[in-house]
Amino acid sequence: MLLENLDSVPEYVSGTKDVPFKVRLSSNENNYGPSPKVIRRIKEISKETHRYPNSSYYRLKEVLADFNSVSPSNIILGNGSDEIFLNLFLIFLNSQNSLVTIERTFTYYKIVATMVGAKVIEAKRGDNFAISCENILSSVDKTTRIIIFPSPDNPTGVITTRECIERILKNIPESTLFILDEAYFQFVPKDKYWDSISLVKKYPNFIVTRTFSKLYGLAGVRLGYGICDESITRLYEKVRMPFNISLVAMESGIVALSDVEYYSKVLSLILKDKERVMVEFEKIGMWVLKESYANFLFIRASKNLDRRLLEYGIMIRDLRSFGYDNEYYRVTIGKSKENEFLLEVLPRCVG
Ligand code: PMP
Repeated sequence: MLLENLDSVPEYVSGTKDVPFKVRLSSNENNYGPSPKVIRRIKEISKETHRYPNSSYYRLKEVLADFNSVSPSNIILGNGSDEIFLNLFLIFLNSQNSLVTIERTFTYYKIVATMVGAKVIEAKRGDNFAISCENILSSVDKTTRIIIFPSPDNPTGVITTRECIERILKNIPESTLFILDEAYFQFVPKDKYWDSISLVKKYPNFIVTRTFSKLYGLAGVRLGYGICDESITRLYEKVRMPFNISLVAMESGIVALSDVEYYSKVLSLILKDKERVMVEFEKIGMWVLKESYANFLFIRASKNLDRRLLEYGIMIRDLRSFGYDNEYYRVTIGKSKENEFLLEVLPRCVG
């Protein structure tokens, strides 16, 4: 049975290829790196790595709870948000039920759901790659135990509204879990941002997940968290591995949250450069999705753009493994110098 399932599990294709490169714009990382305070703490803590971390992670949970105005019992932790999906799917999915997501999105949901034998239903997008709450609701059936999608979405960067999320929550039974993956939420402009955590307080079947891999520049450390009702935390604590968060991840997360100044500076640099890169892309005739609110751009350009850019050492993400045709790409906004280098060589790579 298990082997049969594994045959149909799609492969996870990483944005990081094993080839030499100068500039990596393929994995939505923060190329400025973690805050200097975090680096200092990692150096200090390296002397204590013969110790297991405190397995309740209470300190990190407290800091995250404070940051999100919830209680530590509302926090779940994962070795990246990927591990949170894995653990939640292990709790809620099996071969008798199903998961609803949106088509052509972050692929790991489908991989894990297929692995545990659940059926995966992919709701169609609306115009301009929009997330359609009608299509999501009409994809839900009696077997659906989990609904999950990202906002901002990967790879398009489109976002959902509070109305859309509440409409879904009001129309599903409490036994269906709704996970909103907010890996990129910090990049949403203020006038478009709304507070999803307030809905966790209202709906016990709603979970918001977040990560330190994007804005916080800690993808290599692996740390993600979820905010949910206590009843879900209790189940989660039963299935997670003992010591699933490393000592280094725990300490890095605590310090990263405290360095608001560094991360707001980096955030504004990335958002400013994103505007500039978008304008320049359009000037040379590339199509760019405008309603896109993460640290990357979703573009349509000539075939082989990724290979041509790699000749100059620039890595971007081709989106075939997400189900897009080979003219679509995702380009992470890097450091200003890297973005300038991209804009300099790009005219030689298109057309
Ligand atoms: N959700 C989305 C939408 C992502 O794009 C990614 C990473 N590319 C993740 C989750 C996984 O992040 P983490 O590094 O926290 O596992």
